[in-house]
Amino acid sequence: MAESALLLRHGFTIAAVLAYSPTTSSSRRARWGAGQLFSTSLNISTSSSSPVVRARHGTGNAGVRVAGAQASASAEGASKCYRVTVLPGDGIGPEIIRVAVDVLRLVGSQEGLDFEFKEMLVGGAAIDAVGSPLPQETLDACRDSDAVLLAAIGGYKWDRNEAHLRPERGLLDLRVGLGVFANLRPATVFSQLVDSSTLKREVADGVDLMVVRELTGGIYFGKPKGFGINEHGERIAFNTEIYSTAEIDRIARVGFETARKRQGKLCSVDKANVLEASQLWRERLTIIGAEEYPDVELSHMYVDNAAMQLIRNPKQFDTIVTNNIFGDILSDEASILTGSIGMLPSASIGQSGPGVFEPVHGSAPDIAGQDKANPLAQVLSVSMLLKYGLGQERAAERVEAAVKTTLDRGFRTGDIMSYGKTLVGCLHMGEEVMRSLEASLPARASLH
Ligand code: NAD
Repeated sequence: MAESALLLRHGFTIAAVLAYSPTTSSSRRARWGAGQLFSTSLNISTSSSSPVVRARHGTGNAGVRVAGAQASASAEGASKCYRVTVLPGDGIGPEIIRVAVDVLRLVGSQEGLDFEFKEMLVGGAAIDAVGSPLPQETLDACRDSDAVLLAAIGGYKWDRNEAHLRPERGLLDLRVGLGVFANLRPATVFSQLVDSSTLKREVADGVDLMVVRELTGGIYFGKPKGFGINEHGERIAFNTEIYSTAEIDRIARVGFETARKRQGKLCSVDKANVLEASQLWRERLTIIGAEEYPDVELSHMYVDNAAMQLIRNPKQFDTIVTNNIFGDILSDEASILTGSIGMLPSASIGQSGPGVFEPVHGSAPDIAGQDKANPLAQVLSVSMLLKYGLGQERAAERVEAAVKTTLDRGFRTGDIMSYGKTLVGCLHMGEEVMRSLEASLPARASLH
């Protein structure tokens, strides 16, 4: 009962969660825990990276439930088992995802959530191993999971490959294959890092907004498109901005649901003074808002103004929903407000089935294998996975709080380092996040 109430409160995640209703650990294990298709070792041994976690969990292995987590969950009498497909990809991917999976295991054990992880190949690593950037086995495993945790793909090595053999192809095919049509990108300026922003402190401090971008429609996919010759014999090129009401309605609902989970304010960005597609967009947003989400405060803004307001007064925004091309541009603009690419997570979700949770940054080949990467965007992607993928808001908030506490305690990787702080590597940062998570437990225990 409590579970259905929880699902009902989580709107667009309902379908995703119902499609893969968590079952008891043992039945899950029988169906999913076996069969490592490519990798037999996840390389995410909590014992090697985190003394904090080792005491609680013992050693973790890929595709095998974590015994410690199960014990903790059973003790609280609420064992859930979620299947997470883990895609380390290339470059710094394996380093940062190792940290993120450790964090997910730990918060799971604290919150009575059980996870099974299956590591699969994607991107350049998959090209090298099996000659495809998205092997069918990887897509199948993703489809058969509750959520996909992706790190990053790409690198110099594959830059000259033909289009169908480039790592980026794997990412695009994954999004299409999972039908994820909504991209959620938060831009949060952490008070501890406010001086990393290019904006003045008083403008940047406190910025906490979310851009919800339509991902699979609009001008990037609309037809007709192509090249031609006009009546004057000149070469032309053209694309089509096209949206159906069904496409608008589904992204609108993601926007409203997201706003509901935040401060309850949704700003729809369009160009309705010029574009017919935007006029339909605005009409549908207004109708859905009035009929289904009267509790969410809806406003509309033209995209040129939105681009300006994001720099002038970003704190006026809570949640922004917009089409594919405007979202592409505005989400990049919003992310730069924070000043540090290593801190930015994202989520791509569909109508049903698993979402994809990944950092905004790429594979950073220039620092790969050197333990210099900032793992916090990946860890914050875990928080988004818990919140928007599984509807586990309390666990999500605890992960986010642990990141903030770790920053408060002065730990910084090279990309966010400032005077007087403690410079740490990727794994050490992960350990400190888990220490912060552990330290947050007594307060919770005292509530019971
Ligand atoms: P990038 O984001 O990988 O790196 C840009 C700069 O930011 C680099 O100096 C890098 O060292 C730094 N950086 C990125 N993430 C960091 C982190 N977590 N901690 C510390 N520093 C970090 O972008 P790029 O250099 O343009 O691209 C490198 C490769 O990544 C390319 O092959 C590109 O195609 C790919 N890429 C993949 C994705 C993805 O997987 N979603 C996104 C963008 C780029």
